[in-house]
Amino acid sequence: MQKVVVLGTGPAGLTAAIYLARANMKPLVIEGQEPGGQLTITTEVENFPGFPDGIMGPELMDNMRKQAERFGSEFKRGWVTKVDLSQRPFTLTVDGLGEIKTEALIISTGASAKLLEIPGEKENIGRGVSTCATCDGFFFRGKKIIVVGGGDSAMEEANFLTKFATEVRVVHRRNELRASKIMQERAKNNPKITWSLNCTPVEVIAGEKGVTGLKVRNNETGQEEVLETDGIFVAIGHRPNTAFLEGQLETDDVGYIIVKPGTAETNIPGVFACGDVQDHKYRQAITAAGSGCMAALDCERYLEGQAVHDWSKTL
Ligand code: NAP
Repeated sequence: MQKVVVLGTGPAGLTAAIYLARANMKPLVIEGQEPGGQLTITTEVENFPGFPDGIMGPELMDNMRKQAERFGSEFKRGWVTKVDLSQRPFTLTVDGLGEIKTEALIISTGASAKLLEIPGEKENIGRGVSTCATCDGFFFRGKKIIVVGGGDSAMEEANFLTKFATEVRVVHRRNELRASKIMQERAKNNPKITWSLNCTPVEVIAGEKGVTGLKVRNNETGQEEVLETDGIFVAIGHRPNTAFLEGQLETDDVGYIIVKPGTAETNIPGVFACGDVQDHKYRQAITAAGSGCMAALDCERYLEGQAVHDWSKTL
């Protein structure tokens, strides 16, 4: 039986753990298959305040973890396969750990960037393939970049990347873009953006120093060609890691948990959400950390309220 369990160890979960531990709540933090979250697959983080010379993503996460441990957070490795939020205490079924009961739950399981699942892609992440323009755009100063996708994210990333790149080519599998009119217009009016529409990416081409091209197939003619590039930004959407909830919490159409505005509260009292699992808009380490702090403070207040409630029941 736990007072509070934190699911996930990205910046949101670890910040929540630091705050909960410092409030003497002794959180149990469950680490999944990618401890440290998305930052552990990036290289240098230059925009996290407090590190004027930048810091490597894995090191930043390692530091956050040590900080959470220092104040008494307990970490266990496991994969949550099922939750029962219909009764209190809540029950979590965790592979490798069995059943865990908890009075409160903080969900910070993050979101995963969708990948194209084509040859050469995974092995070149960090060597020219990226899923985050804000994180990695700076490294492509004066270079040629391809952005894959036709939605708002792709348009936003393409526009953003023109600040650094000499040319940004958008590769999209259909002739029509999915992005909103205003985002499309902005991209179409940007003279540094070129287009390869109706083209499906089939292979990432790389040499010793990293990515050199993207092989695409023209969907009309069936012809394949290699587009030369120094970097490929895959912007085909994110998938929030909420499948294990099996619809027990309110989410939007895509699966992002809905929190009450200005809080980390979900529709079930005692269950809180923070980080990318509830944010498809900002998706930054610093915003995730901030929402982790909110979740811990909201949770603390909730548990204090419960204690008052239980005490009065015994009178
Ligand atoms: P999205 O709207 O789902 O668009 C994903 C794009 O990637 C689509 O064009 C899709 O092609 C393409 N795609 C998906 N799987 C693919 C694959 N396997 N191979 C090749 N292409 C693939 O995702 P998003 O752009 O990340 O946006 C998500 C949400 O956030 C949207 O609601 C969006 O409006 C919002 N958002 C808003 C802003 C803003 O307003 N500033 C910025 C970013 C995101 P098809 O079109 O052919 O399906």
